[in-house]
Amino acid sequence: VKSDSIVIGAGLAGLVTAIRLAEEGQKVLVLATGVGSTHLAPGTIDVLGYWPERVDSPAEVLPDFTAAHPEHPYAGMNLPLMSAAVEWLKSHVRAFDYVGSLDRNLLLPTAVGALKPSAIVSETMAAGDVTGGAQLVVAGPVQLKDFYPAYAADNLDGTSLDDGCIVTARAVELQPDVGGDSDVTPLSWARRFEDPEFRKLAIEELTPHGHGASAIGLPAVLGLAEARMVWQELQDGIGCPVFEIPTLPPSVPGMRLFGALKGALQKAGATLVLGGRVIGAERSGARITGVISDSAGRPKLHEGSTFVLATGGFSSGGLEMDSHGHVRESVFGLPVAGVPGPEEPRFDSDYWKSHPMGGAGIAVNGRGMPVDGGGEVLFDNLYAAGATLAGAEPWLEKSGDGISLTTGIRAAEAILEEAA
Ligand SMILES: Cc1cc2nc3c(=O)[nH]c(=O)nc-3n(C[C@H](O)[C@H](O)[C@H](O)COP(=O)(O)OP(=O)(O)OC[C@H]3O[C@@H](n4cnc5c(N)ncnc54)[C@H](O)[C@@H]3O)c2cc1C
Repeated sequence: VKSDSIVIGAGLAGLVTAIRLAEEGQKVLVLATGVGSTHLAPGTIDVLGYWPERVDSPAEVLPDFTAAHPEHPYAGMNLPLMSAAVEWLKSHVRAFDYVGSLDRNLLLPTAVGALKPSAIVSETMAAGDVTGGAQLVVAGPVQLKDFYPAYAADNLDGTSLDDGCIVTARAVELQPDVGGDSDVTPLSWARRFEDPEFRKLAIEELTPHGHGASAIGLPAVLGLAEARMVWQELQDGIGCPVFEIPTLPPSVPGMRLFGALKGALQKAGATLVLGGRVIGAERSGARITGVISDSAGRPKLHEGSTFVLATGGFSSGGLEMDSHGHVRESVFGLPVAGVPGPEEPRFDSDYWKSHPMGGAGIAVNGRGMPVDGGGEVLFDNLYAAGATLAGAEPWLEKSGDGISLTTGIRAAEAILEEAA
């Protein structure tokens, strides 16, 4: 059965594109090897956090940023489209709210006690914004792996903000009885917080620590499907604003985002097939006619009118590098832009610096269509979105999910316009 659009990849970029298309009546098929970075990343939509200094307002800075980086995925997009993408996301995540805008980055504590600028965040995280100063308590169960309240609080305490305001922080280690349970990952804590009895005990233990605090930070494990209720009940019970601090993977807030988008995708009538890798394509002239997946032990052809590549970067298999340093795009074999020459260094020895290989990816035009080195469109019916795109350094810029959201919407809008 031929699809109107086939989206390859089920990360933020692929899901957003697919939902937008399906809601407009398209017959959409999503093919993905597995879930994307949603299950690893905190689910905050970071649009532009650094350039190179910390950015207070993405909306103010983006016009100059894109003018200075014409190769960046944001180039060719305008603020109204980006704002519309943000509002679109907010309206599609219903189990909890996303708050924030492109006008102002919130400054949120991380698990190591640094401050991270994020534009759009889950409402369960927003009270952690230290803009204007804060008196924080960082609390967490001692059994939770990789979350150390004392470490985070020590690093946060005494932080002086640009405007002279100060952040103070102190730690509280909770010692809940988990009955000898050895599974202490974020997911098991999220399930525990959905138990009313467990919440009652947590509230009793935390309430004395809320006095004098502007907010209490807890690891981002406050429920999975019931996050809004859990978070609200803790705040009301303790009598102090509560906020979630992202943990190391697996990411509970990221899973909530995936769950919300998967629900929206199904509601819109699209088909999601996880577990098969797309290994190639069939073409006729300048058009792709189908993609081939290796699911069910044998290659299977999926025919469609339009195709969207949303396979992510190196970490998710959208881009691959062999031991000789050759880089290839894994589905269509598209040219990969921004790859350093064989004799040039690929990485800087300082992890936190810009890496020559960092911006490698698929170059696209202003409609999100892959182009060759001369800027010519490669296929008349192929679009690309998300972390597979060339020209960005999300780790440095703090722009990862912002790129996936906005370029996903851009691709969908371009396809709908073309179809019309
Ligand atoms: C640990 C971690 C922390 C992060 N923290 C932040 C943060 O704080 N803020 C922020 O904004 N961003 C963050 N990011 C980055 C952000 O999560 C990603 O940039 C963004 O989610 C990428 O989304 P995507 O949809 O483009 O790609 P991905 O989420 O990588 O999805 C790619 C999809 O393509 C599929 N795929 C790949 N190849 C094939 C193939 N051949 N056939 C079929 N399917 C295929 C994969 O299975 C997957 O479904 C973080 C990322 C990680 C890993």
